[in-house]
Amino acid sequence: MPGCSTSSSGSGSTGFISFSGVESALSSLKNFQACISSGMDTASSVALDLVETQTEVSSEYSMDKAMVEFAMMDRELNHYLKAVQSTINHVKEERSEKIPDLKLLVEKKFLALQNKNSDADFQNNEKFVQFKQQLKELKKQYGLQGDREADSTEGLDEDMIVTQSQTNFICPITQLEMKKPVKNKVCGHTYDEEAIVRMIESKHRRKKKACCPKVGCSQIDMRISDLIQDEALRRAIENHNKKRRRQST
Ligand SMILES: [Zn+2]
Repeated sequence: MPGCSTSSSGSGSTGFISFSGVESALSSLKNFQACISSGMDTASSVALDLVETQTEVSSEYSMDKAMVEFAMMDRELNHYLKAVQSTINHVKEERSEKIPDLKLLVEKKFLALQNKNSDADFQNNEKFVQFKQQLKELKKQYGLQGDREADSTEGLDEDMIVTQSQTNFICPITQLEMKKPVKNKVCGHTYDEEAIVRMIESKHRRKKKACCPKVGCSQIDMRISDLIQDEALRRAIENHNKKRRRQST
C-alpha cells in the first residue's frame, strides 16, 4: 500500500490508513438488512395465510422457525456492523504508528457482542414482535387460541358480535370501513393509513401536534413512525366482506 510509511500528514483518519474501502463494504452490507426485512415480511405473510387456511405444517417448515432465523441473522449482521464501526473509530482515535490487525480487532468485538446474545433480544426486533402479535390476533379471530375467551362469547347474541366487530372496522377519521388499517404503536388505536397520514402531515405542516383522533384517547403527539400495518385486521375485514358477499349472492 503506498503511503503506508509513517509520513503522518496530519489529515483526518489515521493519516495513513484509508477506510473508504471498508466504509463502502459496510454500506453494501447494510443492503442485506433490507433483504432480511423483506424476508421477514414474506414469512410473516405466509404464516398468516397458513392460519387463515388452517393449514398444518410440520415444525420443520414453520414460519415461526423461519422468523427466529431471520431475527438471528439480523442480530448477527447488526453486531458485525457495530464491531467494524467501533474498530474503525477506535483506530482513528488512537492514531497509532503501526497498522493494527483490523480483522482480529473486529473479530474480538464481534464475539464479545455475540456472547451477550439472549432470546430476549428478539423483543427488540420490531418485525419479530409485530409478527407474534399479528399471528396471535389472527389465531384469536379463528378461535385457535384463547379457548376460554371463545366460550364466553358463545351465549351472546350473534348479531351483537357482528355489530361489535364491524365497529372495529370503522376508521375514526373517515367513519368508513378501513381499507388499509394501521395501528398506533403507542395507544393501540387503528385508522385507515391514508387518512391518518394525511391528518398527521397537515398538522405538522401547521407546526401543530397531532392527537389520536379516537375519542377519549390521551395520545396527543402522534408520529407517522408510530404507525404499523395491521395485517391481522386487514385480513379480518377482507374475510368479513368475502362472507358478506357470499351470503348476498
Ligand atoms: Zn389512540
